[in-house]
Amino acid sequence: MRVRFWGVRGSLPVPGPNTERYGGNTSCVEARSAAGTRIIIDAGTGVRRLGREMMREEFESGRGTAHLLISHTHWDHIQGLPFFAPLHRSGNKLCVYARRRDDVHLRAVFESQTDQPYFPISPISLEQVKAGISFRELDDSAAFQIADVRVSCARLNHPYVATAYRLSADGASVTYVSDTAPFSDILFENQYIAQPPPLRVGLPEADRAQLRVMRDGVVRLCEGSDLVIYDTMFTRDDYIRMPHYGHSRPSDALEICREAGARRLALFHHAPERSDAEVDTILDETRAQAAEIGLDLDIMAACEGLDVDLDHRGKL
Ligand SMILES: [Zn+2]
Ligand SMILES: [Zn+2]
Repeated sequence: MRVRFWGVRGSLPVPGPNTERYGGNTSCVEARSAAGTRIIIDAGTGVRRLGREMMREEFESGRGTAHLLISHTHWDHIQGLPFFAPLHRSGNKLCVYARRRDDVHLRAVFESQTDQPYFPISPISLEQVKAGISFRELDDSAAFQIADVRVSCARLNHPYVATAYRLSADGASVTYVSDTAPFSDILFENQYIAQPPPLRVGLPEADRAQLRVMRDGVVRLCEGSDLVIYDTMFTRDDYIRMPHYGHSRPSDALEICREAGARRLALFHHAPERSDAEVDTILDETRAQAAEIGLDLDIMAACEGLDVDLDHRGKL
């Protein structure tokens, strides 16, 4: 299985000289099995370039099928979808998977993306695109097969909830854990938390218990993974200021990878204000931290265009 990063940013796209090396596009990761099954995780702005690349293959003649797993429907994970070229060619098929909501069907969430007055090419809605598009709603611990790829899910700790995915094929696995807060201080559900509560004070036992279950689920999902892609948007100081925004620090990713016995970690969902030099520094610090705790983990910072071949078990 091969993994390629098409967008590695959180929140919003940030092109420009300070983000040239790691890239400015929002979240999008592609995995392909040796048999050619193509699974895309998240459709931030990175999916636009991936779509153009796919149009050089069978999607150009309308004979392509792709599977899109959505972690959650915050803008930075779906905003590229209307610009995904394979959607606009008859015959192509796109299957979209995301967590079931209580209030609105998944199809309605995606269709509202291209409603007036948000989108210029009226009346193109997802209902009217040329490709066949289907939606599958998932439970928190769903596990299913897409051709030769096994997909498993776990719930994450994020405002309005997000889903982590593990893909296993060709004797290798990749686990995508974005977006999530640590499982210690705040329990996020379907609500916006306007003010940060005092950390580690007054968290009800029921919430703590739920966070423990959620954390165990994520550790199990990452167990023995060849690559864990983890939301490490926050520095330690960011987290102190904004624990209620629902993101993790590199130290949180290290803890999960250690318990799960993962082989590689990709720092992911970089903050929009983070320059290339700052991402370099965070990567160096995270490697040093891992060495300090005796953790044997290959750590990289995800950048646009990075390919990770999980079938070759050696160094990148
Ligand atoms: Zn995000
Ligand atoms: Zn989010």
